[in-house]
Amino acid sequence: MSEYIKSLLEDVVAKNPSEPEFHQAVEEVAETIGVVFDRHPEYRKAKVLERIIEPERVIMFRVPWLDDQGNINVNRGFRIEMNSAIGPYKGGLRFHPSVNLGILKFLAFEQVFKNSLTTLPMGGGKGGSDFDPKGKSDTEVMRFCQAFMTELQRHIGPNTDVPAGDIGVGGREIGYMFGQYKKIRNEFTGILTGKGLNWGGSLIRPEATGYGAVYFAAEMLNTRGESLEGKSCLVSGSGNVAQYTVEKINHLGGKAVTLSDSSGYIYDPAGIDDSKLAYIMDLKNVRRGRIKEYAEKYAGVTYTVLDSGLDHNPLWDHKADCAFPSATQNEINGKDAQNLINNGVYVVSEGANMPTTIDGINLYLQEKILYGPGKAANAGGVAVSGLEMSQNSMRLPWSREEVDRRLQEIMKNIHTTCVETAKRFDVEGNYVVGANIGGFLKVANTMLDQGVV
Ligand code: NDP
Repeated sequence: MSEYIKSLLEDVVAKNPSEPEFHQAVEEVAETIGVVFDRHPEYRKAKVLERIIEPERVIMFRVPWLDDQGNINVNRGFRIEMNSAIGPYKGGLRFHPSVNLGILKFLAFEQVFKNSLTTLPMGGGKGGSDFDPKGKSDTEVMRFCQAFMTELQRHIGPNTDVPAGDIGVGGREIGYMFGQYKKIRNEFTGILTGKGLNWGGSLIRPEATGYGAVYFAAEMLNTRGESLEGKSCLVSGSGNVAQYTVEKINHLGGKAVTLSDSSGYIYDPAGIDDSKLAYIMDLKNVRRGRIKEYAEKYAGVTYTVLDSGLDHNPLWDHKADCAFPSATQNEINGKDAQNLINNGVYVVSEGANMPTTIDGINLYLQEKILYGPGKAANAGGVAVSGLEMSQNSMRLPWSREEVDRRLQEIMKNIHTTCVETAKRFDVEGNYVVGANIGGFLKVANTMLDQGVV
């Protein structure tokens, strides 16, 4: 690592204390793009990276709301407007008790590079709240979403900042927030993506992140003349991304054998076929139940309770060919990565954001497995959000086939950008370098064009 990058990382830690996930995300990117600064001193002179790591704006606000018993609750709301060089801020909202400033800054930082890779004109942002939707009634979720949007509406707009969903924010929450925006502003505009089909949503948006992660895996396999046909796959999570990852694995002839939630995971050696997946979708999206119930319903399935005292996650310790982490950050540590490799996994396509720690990533790279980092592999979600914005601007919806075709094309292009960029920087097959540099260059060049702002 160069002295320049080393001192930049020291500054990041000093200036942003208690934000370990943000430090981790910056370190992962800065380490891999050091070579760009050696070849192009103009970026260093213009302090492009120093500017990219400093959010353009951080908004933090109080979200008071009444629960069903009439008690007052107070949560904290955030929107990180990270970088608008190439388009309006764009990135999801996360509602989860673990949400804090550092986690949202890491997500917003990653989003800048990811959005750049999609080739669509979108800057990077992220937001959310430490509100926990689990166990809340629909009316409580609605009141919270309305309170959250009552403040957020001042800061967003179709040409300024267009949030989407993330963990804990799906169609229900987007609907309640959109309704509140419309009531306060008296305007019907595309200020959120992930909307319902009757009111400006795009076909394939719910499927896009999961489908995209599987398309990316298929592209990586294709470089070795292989396909997903007959491949056994480990999938974590059981929310939006995990569900559509399993659906596309099934379409392409693979077999998903695991799913999880924050209480534990199921292992189904027979495979989670389409009818079992329909059960999961009802369990998670309608009844809002726990993954454990799957093991009670189907024979031959084991359920393992999450043991946070363990130094590894046993979900990643099964024989398989591919892994699709689709739950949350840092869900695969160095030991898990070693277990994956020992069990024969040679494709990792990240549906979640930063699910692998830096130790784990180094192991994938050392073993030269096909590793698609989240900012490339899960970019399908934001890409179709970008397509939803285009359809809103035109006031014309595209067909399912049209959106899916564009999604596949975008995932293919991202894959090509990663492969060609890695080759250009003499690290053939390294998708981490390919994605980071590929995403960085477009933003950096634009920042040079636009001056010191
Ligand atoms: P959902 O809320 O729909 O699902 C999240 C899943 O992960 C749930 O099964 C949840 O279990 C589990 N989970 C969440 N936090 C933890 C935790 N700390 N430990 C263990 N399990 C956990 O979210 P999404 O599917 O939308 O998001 C999943 C990942 O994909 C996130 O990293 C997100 O940032 C990323 N992503 C999502 C995109 C999208 O379009 N939705 C786009 C790009 C990336 P439980 O219900 O028990 O909490």
